[in-house]
Amino acid sequence: MRQVIIVGSGPAGFTAAIYAARANLEPLVVASSVEVGGELMNTTDVENFPGFAEGIQGPELMEKMQAQAERFGAEILYDDVESLELDGPVKRVTLASGAVHEASTIIFATGSAYRKLGLANEERLTGHGVSWCATCDGFFFRDRTIAVIGGGDSAMEEATFLTRFASKVYVIHRGDTLRASKIMQDRAFQNEKIEFIWNSEVADIQGDAAVSGLVLKSTVDASTRELPIEGLFIAIGNDPRTHLVHGVLDLTPEGTIAVDGRSSKTSVAGVFAAGDVIDPSYRQAVTAAASGTVAALDAEHYLALQEQSAQGAQAEATLAAAAAPGA
Ligand code: NDP
Repeated sequence: MRQVIIVGSGPAGFTAAIYAARANLEPLVVASSVEVGGELMNTTDVENFPGFAEGIQGPELMEKMQAQAERFGAEILYDDVESLELDGPVKRVTLASGAVHEASTIIFATGSAYRKLGLANEERLTGHGVSWCATCDGFFFRDRTIAVIGGGDSAMEEATFLTRFASKVYVIHRGDTLRASKIMQDRAFQNEKIEFIWNSEVADIQGDAAVSGLVLKSTVDASTRELPIEGLFIAIGNDPRTHLVHGVLDLTPEGTIAVDGRSSKTSVAGVFAAGDVIDPSYRQAVTAAASGTVAALDAEHYLALQEQSAQGAQAEATLAAAAAPGA
Protein backbone atom coordinates (compact mmCIF):
# COMPACT_ATOMS: atom_id res chain seq x y z
CA MET A 1 0.00 0.00 0.00
CA ARG A 2 1.19 3.51 -0.86
CA GLN A 3 1.40 6.35 1.61
CA VAL A 4 0.23 8.97 -0.90
CA ILE A 5 -1.51 8.90 -4.26
CA ILE A 6 -1.78 12.22 -6.07
CA VAL A 7 -4.51 12.61 -8.67
CA GLY A 8 -3.64 15.30 -11.21
CA SER A 9 -0.48 16.56 -12.88
CA GLY A 10 -0.81 20.32 -13.02
CA PRO A 11 1.30 22.67 -10.88
CA ALA A 12 -0.60 21.59 -7.73
CA GLY A 13 -0.20 17.86 -8.36
CA PHE A 14 3.47 18.00 -9.32
CA THR A 15 4.39 20.38 -6.50
CA ALA A 16 2.63 18.07 -4.03
CA ALA A 17 4.65 15.23 -5.58
CA ILE A 18 7.94 17.11 -5.16
CA TYR A 19 7.24 17.76 -1.48
CA ALA A 20 5.88 14.28 -0.76
CA ALA A 21 8.81 12.62 -2.56
CA ARG A 22 11.35 14.73 -0.66
CA ALA A 23 9.64 13.62 2.57
CA ASN A 24 10.29 9.97 1.51
CA LEU A 25 6.59 9.26 1.05
CA GLU A 26 7.24 7.74 -2.43
CA PRO A 27 4.12 9.23 -4.01
CA LEU A 28 2.33 7.79 -6.99
CA VAL A 29 1.01 10.47 -9.38
CA VAL A 30 -1.90 9.54 -11.64
CA ALA A 31 -1.12 12.01 -14.37
CA SER A 32 -3.75 11.41 -17.11
CA SER A 33 -3.47 9.26 -20.21
CA VAL A 34 -4.14 12.16 -22.55
CA GLU A 35 -2.27 15.22 -21.43
CA VAL A 36 0.15 15.34 -18.53
CA GLY A 37 0.66 18.82 -17.14
CA GLY A 38 -2.83 20.31 -16.93
CA GLU A 39 -3.99 23.64 -18.33
CA LEU A 40 -0.48 25.05 -18.72
CA MET A 41 0.04 22.63 -21.59
CA ASN A 42 -2.32 24.91 -23.55
CA THR A 43 -0.37 28.06 -22.76
CA THR A 44 2.58 29.40 -24.68
CA ASP A 45 4.85 31.84 -22.81
CA VAL A 46 4.52 31.85 -19.04
CA GLU A 47 6.10 35.09 -17.93
CA ASN A 48 4.81 35.34 -14.38
CA PHE A 49 6.14 32.17 -12.78
CA PRO A 50 8.87 33.33 -10.39
CA GLY A 51 12.37 32.21 -11.22
CA PHE A 52 12.05 32.32 -15.01
CA ALA A 53 13.10 35.89 -15.74
CA GLU A 54 12.99 35.37 -19.52
CA GLY A 55 9.67 33.47 -19.36
CA ILE A 56 9.15 29.80 -20.10
CA GLN A 57 6.80 27.86 -22.35
CA GLY A 58 3.90 26.28 -20.41
CA PRO A 59 4.72 22.71 -21.53
CA GLU A 60 8.40 23.16 -20.67
CA LEU A 61 7.52 24.41 -17.19
CA MET A 62 5.40 21.33 -16.62
CA GLU A 63 8.15 19.02 -17.92
CA LYS A 64 10.53 20.61 -15.42
CA MET A 65 8.06 20.14 -12.56
CA GLN A 66 7.60 16.48 -13.52
CA ALA A 67 11.37 15.92 -13.76
CA GLN A 68 11.83 17.53 -10.35
CA ALA A 69 9.20 15.24 -8.80
CA GLU A 70 10.74 12.15 -10.46
CA ARG A 71 14.21 13.14 -9.32
CA PHE A 72 13.11 12.63 -5.72
CA GLY A 73 11.35 9.33 -6.41
CA ALA A 74 7.77 10.20 -7.41
CA GLU A 75 6.31 7.57 -9.71
CA ILE A 76 4.17 8.85 -12.58
CA LEU A 77 1.36 6.76 -14.07
CA TYR A 78 0.00 7.78 -17.48
CA ASP A 79 -3.54 6.69 -16.79
CA ASP A 80 -6.89 8.17 -15.76
CA VAL A 81 -8.78 7.64 -12.54
CA GLU A 82 -12.01 5.78 -13.14
CA SER A 83 -13.32 5.80 -9.56
CA LEU A 84 -12.27 6.45 -5.98
CA GLU A 85 -13.15 4.79 -2.68
CA LEU A 86 -12.23 7.33 -0.03
CA ASP A 87 -13.94 6.11 3.14
CA GLY A 88 -11.92 4.38 5.83
CA PRO A 89 -8.18 4.26 6.43
CA VAL A 90 -7.37 2.54 3.12
CA LYS A 91 -8.23 4.62 0.03
CA ARG A 92 -8.66 2.80 -3.28
CA VAL A 93 -8.02 4.31 -6.70
CA THR A 94 -9.30 2.39 -9.73
CA LEU A 95 -7.75 3.37 -13.03
CA ALA A 96 -9.13 3.23 -16.55
CA SER A 97 -6.69 0.39 -17.26
CA GLY A 98 -8.42 -1.62 -14.52
CA ALA A 99 -5.50 -1.46 -12.09
CA VAL A 100 -6.37 -0.71 -8.46
CA HIS A 101 -3.97 1.16 -6.18
CA GLU A 102 -4.32 1.66 -2.43
CA ALA A 103 -2.99 4.44 -0.22
CA SER A 104 -3.37 5.91 3.25
CA THR A 105 -3.85 9.39 1.81
CA ILE A 106 -5.06 10.95 -1.42
CA ILE A 107 -4.17 14.38 -2.74
CA PHE A 108 -6.83 15.45 -5.20
CA ALA A 109 -5.51 18.05 -7.66
CA THR A 110 -7.63 17.69 -10.77
CA GLY A 111 -7.79 21.40 -11.57
CA SER A 112 -10.55 23.17 -13.39
CA ALA A 113 -11.61 23.42 -16.97
CA TYR A 114 -12.28 26.72 -18.71
CA ARG A 115 -15.71 26.68 -20.30
CA LYS A 116 -15.49 26.71 -24.06
CA LEU A 117 -17.70 28.22 -26.72
CA GLY A 118 -17.73 24.91 -28.57
CA LEU A 119 -16.60 26.24 -31.96
CA ALA A 120 -14.27 24.27 -34.23
CA ASN A 121 -11.96 27.24 -34.82
CA GLU A 122 -11.70 27.88 -31.09
CA GLU A 123 -9.55 24.73 -30.69
CA ARG A 124 -7.52 25.38 -33.83
CA LEU A 125 -6.67 28.99 -32.91
CA THR A 126 -5.96 28.40 -29.22
CA GLY A 127 -2.53 29.91 -28.58
CA HIS A 128 -2.83 31.83 -31.88
CA GLY A 129 -5.02 34.65 -30.67
CA VAL A 130 -7.56 32.66 -28.66
CA SER A 131 -6.85 32.67 -24.93
CA TRP A 132 -8.55 31.98 -21.62
CA CYS A 133 -6.08 33.89 -19.46
CA ALA A 134 -5.53 37.66 -19.65
CA THR A 135 -2.79 37.66 -17.01
CA CYS A 136 -0.93 34.99 -19.01
CA ASP A 137 -1.35 36.33 -22.53
CA GLY A 138 -2.49 39.97 -22.34
CA PHE A 139 1.03 41.25 -22.81
CA PHE A 140 1.11 39.87 -26.38
CA PHE A 141 -1.71 42.16 -27.49
CA ARG A 142 -0.06 45.52 -27.07
CA ASP A 143 -1.79 48.15 -29.28
CA ARG A 144 -4.12 45.53 -30.76
CA THR A 145 -7.89 45.40 -31.02
CA ILE A 146 -9.23 42.45 -29.08
CA ALA A 147 -12.48 41.05 -27.68
CA VAL A 148 -13.55 39.48 -24.40
CA ILE A 149 -16.55 37.15 -24.28
CA GLY A 150 -18.74 36.98 -21.17
CA GLY A 151 -20.76 39.11 -18.79
CA GLY A 152 -19.49 37.99 -15.40
CA ASP A 153 -16.79 39.23 -13.05
CA SER A 154 -14.10 37.31 -14.93
CA ALA A 155 -14.98 39.02 -18.21
CA MET A 156 -15.01 42.49 -16.58
CA GLU A 157 -11.74 41.84 -14.79
CA GLU A 158 -10.05 40.48 -17.91
CA ALA A 159 -11.35 43.33 -20.10
CA THR A 160 -10.22 45.99 -17.64
CA PHE A 161 -6.81 44.34 -17.23
CA LEU A 162 -6.38 43.99 -21.00
CA THR A 163 -6.82 47.74 -21.55
CA ARG A 164 -3.30 48.08 -20.14
CA PHE A 165 -2.06 46.56 -23.38
CA ALA A 166 -4.72 46.62 -26.07
CA SER A 167 -5.76 49.77 -27.93
CA LYS A 168 -9.41 48.66 -27.89
CA VAL A 169 -11.31 45.93 -26.05
CA TYR A 170 -14.79 44.83 -27.10
CA VAL A 171 -16.82 43.05 -24.45
CA ILE A 172 -19.29 40.77 -26.18
CA HIS A 173 -22.20 39.51 -24.10
CA ARG A 174 -25.11 37.33 -25.09
CA GLY A 175 -27.55 39.28 -22.89
CA ASP A 176 -28.37 42.93 -22.28
CA THR A 177 -27.48 43.00 -18.60
CA LEU A 178 -24.30 41.89 -16.91
CA ARG A 179 -23.95 39.23 -14.26
CA ALA A 180 -20.82 40.93 -12.91
CA SER A 181 -20.79 42.79 -9.58
CA LYS A 182 -21.66 46.48 -9.76
CA ILE A 183 -18.18 47.68 -8.92
CA MET A 184 -16.65 45.57 -11.71
CA GLN A 185 -19.32 46.72 -14.15
CA ASP A 186 -18.77 50.39 -13.29
CA ARG A 187 -15.03 50.03 -13.71
CA ALA A 188 -15.54 48.56 -17.18
CA PHE A 189 -18.20 51.12 -18.19
CA GLN A 190 -15.90 53.97 -17.20
CA ASN A 191 -12.96 52.65 -19.20
CA GLU A 192 -12.72 54.53 -22.49
CA LYS A 193 -10.98 51.65 -24.25
CA ILE A 194 -13.86 49.25 -23.59
CA GLU A 195 -16.88 49.06 -25.88
CA PHE A 196 -19.79 46.72 -25.12
CA ILE A 197 -21.54 44.71 -27.79
CA TRP A 198 -24.82 43.44 -26.34
CA ASN A 199 -27.13 40.57 -27.25
CA SER A 200 -24.49 38.87 -29.36
CA GLU A 201 -22.89 35.47 -29.41
CA VAL A 202 -19.88 34.28 -31.34
CA ALA A 203 -20.94 32.19 -34.34
CA ASP A 204 -17.41 31.74 -35.70
CA ILE A 205 -13.80 32.76 -35.14
CA GLN A 206 -12.00 33.79 -38.32
CA GLY A 207 -8.31 33.55 -39.16
CA ASP A 208 -5.83 31.22 -40.85
CA ALA A 209 -2.59 31.29 -38.84
CA ALA A 210 -3.98 33.68 -36.21
CA VAL A 211 -7.28 35.26 -35.20
CA SER A 212 -8.40 37.98 -37.60
CA GLY A 213 -12.05 38.46 -36.70
CA LEU A 214 -15.35 37.17 -35.39
CA VAL A 215 -18.72 36.42 -36.87
CA LEU A 216 -21.29 37.66 -34.35
CA LYS A 217 -24.88 36.54 -34.26
CA SER A 218 -27.60 38.62 -32.66
CA THR A 219 -29.49 36.80 -29.89
CA VAL A 220 -32.46 39.08 -30.67
CA ASP A 221 -33.01 38.70 -34.43
CA ALA A 222 -30.34 36.13 -35.46
CA SER A 223 -28.72 38.63 -37.84
CA THR A 224 -24.94 38.26 -38.30
CA ARG A 225 -22.07 40.71 -38.65
CA GLU A 226 -18.30 40.53 -38.85
CA LEU A 227 -15.98 42.17 -36.34
CA PRO A 228 -12.23 42.44 -37.12
CA ILE A 229 -10.10 41.68 -34.03
CA GLU A 230 -6.65 40.19 -33.38
CA GLY A 231 -7.20 38.52 -30.03
CA LEU A 232 -10.08 36.75 -28.30
CA PHE A 233 -10.32 36.14 -24.57
CA ILE A 234 -13.04 33.72 -23.52
CA ALA A 235 -14.24 34.37 -19.96
CA ILE A 236 -17.53 32.50 -19.71
CA GLY A 237 -16.82 30.66 -16.48
CA ASN A 238 -14.77 27.84 -15.14
CA ASP A 239 -15.77 24.44 -13.84
CA PRO A 240 -13.71 22.67 -11.16
CA ARG A 241 -13.19 19.02 -12.10
CA THR A 242 -15.02 17.34 -9.23
CA HIS A 243 -17.04 14.61 -10.99
CA LEU A 244 -14.97 11.85 -9.33
CA VAL A 245 -15.89 13.01 -5.82
CA HIS A 246 -19.51 14.15 -6.20
CA GLY A 247 -21.51 12.99 -3.21
CA VAL A 248 -18.31 11.95 -1.42
CA LEU A 249 -16.48 15.18 -0.59
CA ASP A 250 -18.26 18.34 0.51
CA LEU A 251 -18.30 21.09 -2.12
CA THR A 252 -18.62 24.87 -1.72
CA PRO A 253 -21.50 26.87 -3.25
CA GLU A 254 -19.07 27.76 -6.09
CA GLY A 255 -18.64 24.06 -6.85
CA THR A 256 -15.04 23.75 -5.62
CA ILE A 257 -14.02 21.12 -3.07
CA ALA A 258 -14.52 22.48 0.45
CA VAL A 259 -11.36 22.56 2.57
CA ASP A 260 -10.85 23.43 6.22
CA GLY A 261 -9.62 27.05 6.44
CA ARG A 262 -6.25 27.60 4.83
CA SER A 263 -5.47 23.88 4.92
CA SER A 264 -6.08 21.27 2.22
CA LYS A 265 -8.17 19.03 4.48
CA THR A 266 -11.41 17.93 2.83
CA SER A 267 -14.50 16.59 4.58
CA VAL A 268 -13.02 13.05 4.52
CA ALA A 269 -10.05 12.20 6.78
CA GLY A 270 -6.89 11.42 4.82
CA VAL A 271 -8.14 13.12 1.66
CA PHE A 272 -6.55 16.44 0.75
CA ALA A 273 -7.29 18.76 -2.17
CA ALA A 274 -5.15 21.40 -3.86
CA GLY A 275 -4.99 23.81 -6.76
CA ASP A 276 -7.80 25.06 -8.97
CA VAL A 277 -10.19 22.38 -7.75
CA ILE A 278 -10.38 24.26 -4.40
CA ASP A 279 -9.85 27.78 -5.74
CA PRO A 280 -12.73 29.82 -7.17
CA SER A 281 -10.75 33.07 -7.39
CA TYR A 282 -7.04 33.12 -8.18
CA ARG A 283 -6.32 30.12 -10.44
CA GLN A 284 -2.67 30.95 -11.17
CA ALA A 285 0.12 28.43 -11.69
CA VAL A 286 2.00 29.82 -8.73
CA THR A 287 -0.99 29.76 -6.36
CA ALA A 288 -1.78 26.19 -7.45
CA ALA A 289 1.83 25.18 -6.80
CA ALA A 290 1.67 26.74 -3.33
CA SER A 291 -1.56 24.90 -2.66
CA GLY A 292 0.11 21.61 -3.68
CA THR A 293 2.77 22.30 -1.06
CA VAL A 294 0.11 22.75 1.62
CA ALA A 295 -1.52 19.43 0.64
CA ALA A 296 1.76 17.50 0.78
CA LEU A 297 2.59 18.95 4.20
CA ASP A 298 -0.94 18.18 5.47
CA ALA A 299 -0.69 14.60 4.18
CA GLU A 300 2.73 14.17 5.78
CA HIS A 301 1.40 15.46 9.09
CA TYR A 302 -1.66 13.18 8.89
CA LEU A 303 0.53 10.13 8.20
CA ALA A 304 2.82 10.99 11.12
CA LEU A 305 -0.18 11.25 13.48
CA GLN A 306 -1.55 7.93 12.17
CA GLU A 307 1.79 6.28 12.83
CA GLN A 308 2.02 7.80 16.32
CA SER A 309 -1.43 6.57 17.26
CA ALA A 310 -0.70 3.12 15.79
CA GLN A 311 2.50 2.96 17.90
CA GLY A 312 0.57 4.17 20.97
CA ALA A 313 -2.08 1.50 20.46
CA GLN A 314 0.60 -1.18 20.07
CA ALA A 315 2.39 -0.05 23.25
CA GLU A 316 -0.90 -0.12 25.17
CA ALA A 317 -1.64 -3.62 23.88
CA THR A 318 1.84 -4.80 24.93
CA LEU A 319 1.40 -3.29 28.42
CA ALA A 320 -2.05 -4.82 28.75
CA ALA A 321 -0.72 -8.23 27.73
CA ALA A 322 2.16 -7.95 30.23
CA ALA A 323 -0.24 -6.98 33.05
CA ALA A 324 -2.68 -9.77 32.29
CA PRO A 325 -2.94 -12.53 34.96
CA GLY A 326 -0.54 -15.34 34.22
CA ALA A 327 1.64 -13.17 31.97
P1 NDP B 1 -19.90 33.50 -14.23
O1 NDP B 1 -20.54 32.18 -14.28
O2 NDP B 1 -20.22 34.43 -13.13
O3 NDP B 1 -20.23 34.29 -15.59
C1 NDP B 1 -20.10 33.67 -16.82
C2 NDP B 1 -20.57 34.65 -17.90
O4 NDP B 1 -20.35 34.03 -19.16
C3 NDP B 1 -22.06 34.99 -17.80
O5 NDP B 1 -22.24 36.34 -18.11
C4 NDP B 1 -22.69 34.10 -18.86
O6 NDP B 1 -23.78 34.68 -19.51
C5 NDP B 1 -21.57 33.98 -19.88
N1 NDP B 1 -21.63 32.72 -20.60
C6 NDP B 1 -21.69 31.47 -20.08
N2 NDP B 1 -21.68 30.55 -21.06
C7 NDP B 1 -21.63 31.25 -22.23
C8 NDP B 1 -21.59 30.88 -23.59
N3 NDP B 1 -21.60 29.59 -23.97
N4 NDP B 1 -21.52 31.84 -24.52
C9 NDP B 1 -21.51 33.15 -24.16
N5 NDP B 1 -21.54 33.58 -22.89
C10 NDP B 1 -21.59 32.63 -21.94
O7 NDP B 1 -18.33 33.18 -14.34
P2 NDP B 1 -17.08 34.10 -13.95
O8 NDP B 1 -15.89 33.32 -14.36
O9 NDP B 1 -17.23 35.45 -14.48
O10 NDP B 1 -17.13 34.18 -12.36
C11 NDP B 1 -17.09 32.98 -11.57
C12 NDP B 1 -17.08 33.35 -10.09
O11 NDP B 1 -15.84 33.96 -9.76
C13 NDP B 1 -18.17 34.35 -9.74
O12 NDP B 1 -18.66 34.04 -8.48
C14 NDP B 1 -17.43 35.67 -9.72
O13 NDP B 1 -18.05 36.62 -8.88
C15 NDP B 1 -16.05 35.24 -9.22
N6 NDP B 1 -15.02 36.17 -9.67
C16 NDP B 1 -14.71 37.21 -8.88
C17 NDP B 1 -13.77 38.11 -9.27
C18 NDP B 1 -13.45 39.24 -8.37
O14 NDP B 1 -14.22 39.52 -7.49
N7 NDP B 1 -12.33 39.90 -8.54
C19 NDP B 1 -13.04 37.99 -10.53
C20 NDP B 1 -13.48 36.86 -11.32
C21 NDP B 1 -14.44 36.00 -10.89
P3 NDP B 1 -25.19 34.89 -18.77
O15 NDP B 1 -24.99 36.03 -17.83
O16 NDP B 1 -26.12 35.20 -19.90
O17 NDP B 1 -25.49 33.58 -18.09
